[in-house]
Amino acid sequence: MSKPRIVVSRCFLEPVRYNGEIIKDFFIEKLKNYVEFIDVCPEVDIGLGIPRSKLILIKENNFKRLIQPETKRDLTKKMEDYIEERLNNFKDFDGFILKAKSPSCGVGSAKLYDKEGKKVIGRGYGLFAEAIKRRFPFLPLEDEGRLRNQEIKKHFLVRIFTFASLRDLIKDFGAKKLVDFQTKHKYLLMTYSQKHLKLLGQIVAEGKMDLKEKIKKYQEIFYQAFQKRPSRGREINTLRHIIGHLTSKLNQRERKHLEDLITKYEKGWLELKVLLELIRNFAYRFDIKYLLLQSYLNPYPEELGV
Ligand code: SF4
Repeated sequence: MSKPRIVVSRCFLEPVRYNGEIIKDFFIEKLKNYVEFIDVCPEVDIGLGIPRSKLILIKENNFKRLIQPETKRDLTKKMEDYIEERLNNFKDFDGFILKAKSPSCGVGSAKLYDKEGKKVIGRGYGLFAEAIKRRFPFLPLEDEGRLRNQEIKKHFLVRIFTFASLRDLIKDFGAKKLVDFQTKHKYLLMTYSQKHLKLLGQIVAEGKMDLKEKIKKYQEIFYQAFQKRPSRGREINTLRHIIGHLTSKLNQRERKHLEDLITKYEKGWLELKVLLELIRNFAYRFDIKYLLLQSYLNPYPEELGV
């Protein structure tokens, strides 16, 4: 499978920050072996130097302006033109990790100043991050701060690896491959959205639709399916469906043990990965190929989730 392609703020990889520094982030370091990074630094790319004097975002009448207070330069138009051109040229990517708090890259965490540029009046998206959110609403967009939350990180990883596998499918597309893809992601989709699982199943089964149109529609709905993080209740629903493949093969004590573990997970006493590991073990032991191919049991390289 192709590696996920992630657009990343360049200051995680090179010393391009306003103060000439680089940001060290443990998770991004780890990701380097598993994804392909496409780096961008909007501020350097519009011609600002390293180091440079700080930029701030001014919010006035619902508009944001990117200002360099020391030089009194208004860089809004320059930045907007750059963003337009850059976003038009992005190809084949699965998500974004940007630098928190930056007036260009901040994902909801950039300081917003009053029109005099003196007082902080709130927090919002940096200009680059905001344009990404508008243009690619279904692709994962996070900053390094949010990714320290385990649930947000898991949701991000599930999407980037699943979307990368969808890109592979689109590159080499065929009716049979689409059926296999839908089968492989069935339980993952069930966890995220029953409604979208059903819609995607209907697209796969539709016999009259032109293949190109079919994959376009499929892609659109597939992205939408992963929009919201699934609840614990949704995970339990999927686990019960999966366990249905095992019950006839387990003895009474094993069944009871599995049930007890689900109850512990439900109460928040046990992590989901423990249950998934046990199910994987059973699937290997009884050689249940249908379960072993499910992306739900292994949606991304385990080392990344830790
Ligand atoms: S936060 Fe964005 S604009 Fe600022 S240095 Fe990093 S990549 Fe460049």
